[in-house]
Amino acid sequence: LTSGLESAWSKLKGEEVLTKENIAEPMRDIRRALLEADVSLPVVRRFVQAVSDQAVGVGVIRGIVNDELVKLMGGEVSELTFAKSGPTVILLAGLQGVGKTTVCAKLANYLKKQGKTSMLVAGDVYRPAAIDQLVILGEQVKVPVYTAGTDTKPSEIARQGLAEAKKKNIDVVIMDTAGRLQIDKGMMDELKEVKRVLNPTEVLLVVDAMTGQEAAALVTTFNVEIGITGAILTKLDGDSRGGAALSVKEVSGKPIKLVGRGERMEDLEPFYPDRMAGRILGMGDVLSFVEKAQEVMKQEDAEDLQKKIMSAKFDFNDFLKQTRAVARMGSMTRVLGMIPGMGKVTPAQIREAEKSLKIMEAMIEVMTPEEKEKPELLAESSTRRKRVAQESGKTEQQVSQLVAQLFQMRVRMKNLMGVMEGGSIPALNN
Ligand code: GDP
Ligand code: MG
Repeated sequence: LTSGLESAWSKLKGEEVLTKENIAEPMRDIRRALLEADVSLPVVRRFVQAVSDQAVGVGVIRGIVNDELVKLMGGEVSELTFAKSGPTVILLAGLQGVGKTTVCAKLANYLKKQGKTSMLVAGDVYRPAAIDQLVILGEQVKVPVYTAGTDTKPSEIARQGLAEAKKKNIDVVIMDTAGRLQIDKGMMDELKEVKRVLNPTEVLLVVDAMTGQEAAALVTTFNVEIGITGAILTKLDGDSRGGAALSVKEVSGKPIKLVGRGERMEDLEPFYPDRMAGRILGMGDVLSFVEKAQEVMKQEDAEDLQKKIMSAKFDFNDFLKQTRAVARMGSMTRVLGMIPGMGKVTPAQIREAEKSLKIMEAMIEVMTPEEKEKPELLAESSTRRKRVAQESGKTEQQVSQLVAQLFQMRVRMKNLMGVMEGGSIPALNN
């Protein structure tokens, strides 16, 4: 997707004012790129139309594309809704293996941080293992799990679970349900029955971010059949192409509320349409990156890094701080995906990246303080590069690469900031 969009941008470079003619080709590229990312055809059509309509006569297509993507995904962050009185009931639905059971526990963990108590209800009665899984996850996040074995109907379990939660004054009841590999009538009827019994505040469709073209049809069916209030996009840490994210709001009118970015209980976050748009446009999820970095770096360090990124004065000290923070952040997959210019990441690439981080650190450690602050010194002097190579036990070529990489990073970050600053929507004239 990203390279398709990149080629669309590059065709527009230097074109000051957009006309019907010079916009046609880049719009074709955008269309193709979105289709390749598994965005469904009707969504792509409407999207391309909306962008073309706005873009003709104004200069900044990238800003418009970004803004339209954000709009397509709902604009703002959509918070969960809570019941005014009594327990808030959240019903989770979705196909098998998308992450419903995991989301139950992640969500309880997430709500706990907001000071809310939860209870999980085990409604997947077809496999004993599904109940055990929920019980284990519940123990992990220290949240009670209501179970009634595999002989009780899910709607009956729902009724009992809700009564129990009311008795215990629990704030939020989260109902796990059984998924099937494909949409089928049995699953839908069961969900309808459970929904009738629970009268849930939220019905959240859990969607695997890897879902391709089928996402639009899937979301539509669940929405028409059961009525959803929103969606949770899981496995965004994986090799996802983002198409599903673009389809949900457009076909159902309901927002994505949360995203799962990993298998750990902490890996659930609000869904930020602007960041997702940035990611899709190849800008990387820089805001998430900086935010995540803030969690592990001292506050001042993080602000300093942000300023440096903005002013493109990023030096080797920052490079080192950042790579160390990255290492502390744990999940490399996730973080690498956020770095501008990094697209899909495979496990092999992660191991490779971890190795090269070690190599980079070794080289930076032997630089003088001036060299760290002024990477230009190393760029200009092969004597200095030779010395760094010798002292760190690396090759001169590796040192040259590192220096080049730092400058590339500066350029990327500068471009990125340019895009973000110029990314606001210009006034439209008809
Ligand atoms: P269910 O059938 O919908 O209940 O799906 P599960 O909750 O059992 O999850 C299926 C698999 O996906 C499990 O191995 C989970 O650990 C994994 N999984 C769930 N959410 C995520 C996520 O956000 N990222 C990754 N990488 N794996 C996930
Ligand atoms: Mg399950």
